Amino acid sequence: MAQLQKPKWVYMRGEIRQWDEATLHISSEAVTRGLAVFEGVKGYWNANSTEFGMLAVPRHFARLRRSAKLLHIPCPVGYEEFEQACHSLIRLLSQPDRDMWLRPTLYVVEGHWGEGTVADLVLTAYHQDKAPPKPIDVGVSTWRRSSDNSISPRIKTNSNYQVARLARIEGRGRGYSEMVLLNQWGRVAEATGACILMVRDGKVVTPPPSEGRLESITVEIVATICALLNIDFVERPIDRTELYLADELSLAGTLAELTPIRRIDDYVLAGDSPILNKVRIKFWNAVRGIEPCPDVDLSTITPAAVDSLSCSMSVPLASPNDLPDH
Ligand code: PMP
Repeated sequence: MAQLQKPKWVYMRGEIRQWDEATLHISSEAVTRGLAVFEGVKGYWNANSTEFGMLAVPRHFARLRRSAKLLHIPCPVGYEEFEQACHSLIRLLSQPDRDMWLRPTLYVVEGHWGEGTVADLVLTAYHQDKAPPKPIDVGVSTWRRSSDNSISPRIKTNSNYQVARLARIEGRGRGYSEMVLLNQWGRVAEATGACILMVRDGKVVTPPPSEGRLESITVEIVATICALLNIDFVERPIDRTELYLADELSLAGTLAELTPIRRIDDYVLAGDSPILNKVRIKFWNAVRGIEPCPDVDLSTITPAAVDSLSCSMSVPLASPNDLPDH
């Protein structure tokens, strides 16, 4: 059974606090209606572990604000404060041998049915293995992605993950660690926590957000990398059966990175993934600071601060498998 990390520090109510202090009142809309919007931001050590960089922080903040806007949740912080809060938590928790995944969440702590809504920015951060993700088996779920006129997939809100959770439960029973959700028209929307990339006829294809996928930052980066590598990148609807005929498949997401898909339902893909592997190498070299890439912007944290603070706070080592998941 999955065991989640319990980091020593969180950021809540404008300050760094102990994990056990991070509580919400049962009467808040965050609890009664699951009302919150969130992001997942990845932080990478560079290749020689001298600098720690958080990927695409301004874009994650912009998407957090878009999600909040659609749900009429006021965002209590500006960009500077947001970035500083992220850095302060990472400085406390970072370890030289582990990357990190940070979850900034706006929880609705006051208000009632849209009146007097007040949100608090909460940050939690978790250690992650530095190794690239291994290929996985994926199934197509019987559950459907919600539509733009119910809870729009554009909104990265906690309640949007109820269906994803059901799909994961269904998948676990069938031996799959990730599941594809189809949209209201029965075409491919995305996976439960990442987008889908498909290669057919030498082109990298992904459905547009109007097919029910999140406006993914990783997909935007992949589009840039494809342009640099002269690989055609196309956004168009994808039928379920096209997944079974695909030459290559991959997840694309902040946490999933570019996880290769080895098998989809009963269809096994060819082992080599020549086109997406080129994209993966470029992505990996960019986030590790080996070869800069235009769309891969890293908000860097100085190593001195990381070293002195993480040592003085004696943060316990976490096991590589104990990862949070969206
Ligand atoms: N779809 C869903 C449902 C997700 O949770 C994520 C992860 N944030 C993605 C797609 C990928 O988005 P991004 O590349 O911005 O992480």
